[in-house]
Amino acid sequence: MSWFKREKKKIETTTARKELPGELWHKCPSCGDILYRKDLAARVSVCGNCGHHFRVGTDDYLELLLDQGSFRELDADLSSVDALGFVDSKSYAQRLEEYRERTRRNDAIVCGLGAIDDVEVSIGVMDFGFMGGSMGSVVGEKVARAIERAIERRIPLVIVSASGGARMQEGVLSLMQMGKTSTLLAELATNGLPFIAVDTDPTTGGVTASYAMLGDVIYAEPHAQIGFAGPRVIKQTIGEDLPDEFQTAEFLLEHGFVDAVVPRDRLKRIISRTLRWMLGREALAEEE
Ligand SMILES: [Zn+2]
Repeated sequence: MSWFKREKKKIETTTARKELPGELWHKCPSCGDILYRKDLAARVSVCGNCGHHFRVGTDDYLELLLDQGSFRELDADLSSVDALGFVDSKSYAQRLEEYRERTRRNDAIVCGLGAIDDVEVSIGVMDFGFMGGSMGSVVGEKVARAIERAIERRIPLVIVSASGGARMQEGVLSLMQMGKTSTLLAELATNGLPFIAVDTDPTTGGVTASYAMLGDVIYAEPHAQIGFAGPRVIKQTIGEDLPDEFQTAEFLLEHGFVDAVVPRDRLKRIISRTLRWMLGREALAEEE
């Protein structure tokens, strides 16, 4: 049923799409405030009213953390193969193709070299938009190479995580990436090189069970969900209600799993100070 009936025929309706309010404004899911998109972008996608951190993409983190023009992407051409011939509602090969097209990258992490306030770093930033940031053999291999690059060049490693966990379509090939990356991180530590893990919303599953929790220093964004199994699975398994705020960055901080909860706009500054301190270039100031 329509509310109005058009009496006259042949009235032309313009099909040109005007800018809808939804494209200009964004509602904060936390406080309900209506936010102007341009303001939101200027505040690195953090609600000016309540501090809610909207999820942002891989390129946003690279821009936020690295000195302008310093990033050089490496291993961008590595792409997964469907080794198991895995099919669920569609084939893994088809899924990969769709995500490659959608994201314009070959897998769920971007790695390379860059500088944070003139400190050269080997960096990896996961892309939750590529199959939920799942870790398959290519993500594992790229993280492994990022660690090896840090060792070779004797520079620190920074990994920004956002992941639903191991990529089920690659079965055990995914799971072995946990061991592979963890072993190399132990080598990085043996070489006395710093590793800073930055965990964003969400960081879960196999990524939490490996490099996201192995940083010498682990920073998390406010209210990020960080955990291994999801709360529903845990609740069903242990048959008990879970505490409020379970698996949030703040809960993990309280229980000693992360070192600090850092608002996005302070992330670069804090990482930069931490690295300088770890490399013996600067003393930590009182404020931090
Ligand atoms: Zn808000």
